[in-house]
Amino acid sequence: EPMIGVLALQGDVREHLTALAAAGAAAGPVRRPEELAGVDGLVIPGGESTTMSKLAHLFGMMEPLRERVRAGMPVYGTCAGLIMLADKILDPRSDQETIGGIDMIVRRNAFGRQNESFEAAVELTGVDGGPVEGVFIRAPWVESTGADVRILAQHGGHVVAVRQGNALATSFHPELTGDHRVHRLFTEMVRDAG
Ligand code: GLN
Repeated sequence: EPMIGVLALQGDVREHLTALAAAGAAAGPVRRPEELAGVDGLVIPGGESTTMSKLAHLFGMMEPLRERVRAGMPVYGTCAGLIMLADKILDPRSDQETIGGIDMIVRRNAFGRQNESFEAAVELTGVDGGPVEGVFIRAPWVESTGADVRILAQHGGHVVAVRQGNALATSFHPELTGDHRVHRLFTEMVRDAG
């Protein structure tokens, strides 16, 4: 049985652990390089990507994360996690670095002030049984993608879910709904990679 980690530096870690368990996966928090070495796949939660980035440096995690993602470890980022997986951020704060892994440019807080949080039904390629409930909280969107990136979902004309190789990312938060289909999809990706 593969082990799935949830990057536990900052963000909604507990919700992802609960959703992964409900999806039938063995899951645990990952804070240190030794813990990262012990997992077969990794979820990067929602939260605040600038803080997450700083903490990743502080905990000596940035390079180990980059190495594992580069080596093809299945990884799934939600919201701030999607930002962490972007090769490029539009107008990054001067100190904001990402892990990278997906050839895309993202725009943080893209859906704007009056819509900082909202829910919408989202058709997600690869997930059967009807749209998922997309919970968007100060969510990014994907501004542009490279040729190897598959667009899995759009909302309001903007890309909100992508996959490149073993890296999956959504602007929204399936871990905050009772619907575990996206976590099941990721669990399958980890099993297939094993
Ligand atoms: N706006 C946050 C960021 O830029 C992401 C918000 C979230 O993860 N819900 O990191």
